[in-house]
Amino acid sequence: MTPLKIALVGYGNMGRVVDEVAAARGLEVVDRFTREKPFRSDSGLSGVTIVDFSVPEAVPETARAAAALSLPLVIGTTGWHDRMEEVRGAIESSGIGAVQASNFSLGVNVFYRLAEQAARMLAAFDYDPFIQDWHHRFKKDSPSGTALEIRRRMAPHYGEREVPISCQRAGYVPSEHSVGFDSPADTIHLQHRARNRQGFAEGALLAAGWIAGRPGFHTFQEVLSDVLASE
Ligand code: NAD
Repeated sequence: MTPLKIALVGYGNMGRVVDEVAAARGLEVVDRFTREKPFRSDSGLSGVTIVDFSVPEAVPETARAAAALSLPLVIGTTGWHDRMEEVRGAIESSGIGAVQASNFSLGVNVFYRLAEQAARMLAAFDYDPFIQDWHHRFKKDSPSGTALEIRRRMAPHYGEREVPISCQRAGYVPSEHSVGFDSPADTIHLQHRARNRQGFAEGALLAAGWIAGRPGFHTFQEVLSDVLASE
């Protein structure tokens, strides 16, 4: 099997960590795109997977360029879901494959399932559910894509009732999410705290390997299900 080659779109906090983790895994990073040097269909790239951790407004153009060049795409950038149809359309009409996740951490993706199961068990009882989302002061979107995904997973168990999300944007915490259920008698708290950005990079590279040769628009949960099934 030829080793995976990747190109990074966005070279900030996450792009740099993906670069380091890729180097540690022996993967070749062939190019790095930024605001000053955006990724476009005339970039001349072939045989690489695009890994995008940039800004929301750049994602539709990145998807169009990847589609034009027939390059698979991993989208880690958050906050662009209002343009989902456009992005998804570019991917599906071109026959390329893409994996998208608001959180590529393996731990968080297991955490989604735990939150969903807890909601399933507790919704019938007098437990008020809530979600807390704490990120560093530089994070642009609020609530985080992860908090919204946790709520989406819990929603089927609460009907019309929306699970509240409270957000803090302060300090330097890479990412912390908790799900609570409070009753007159007690509180249940599930928490996920990222220690650094490495887990996101590991998951994105796992997705980059998985998407090779798989057309269509996928989520990281499908990657996780495959990984768990093969263990
Ligand atoms: P950052 O601000 O440190 O870096 C953003 C980078 O995007 C910069 O290098 C900037 O030059 C670049 N950029 C801006 N416009 C561009 C363009 N048109 N083309 C290419 N690059 C462009 O941000 P970050 O902390 O690295 O986070 C990036 C994104 O990833 C955010 O949306 C963040 O929420 C998300 N994120 C996702 C996960 C996940 O697991 N899915 C984890 C962490 C962060």
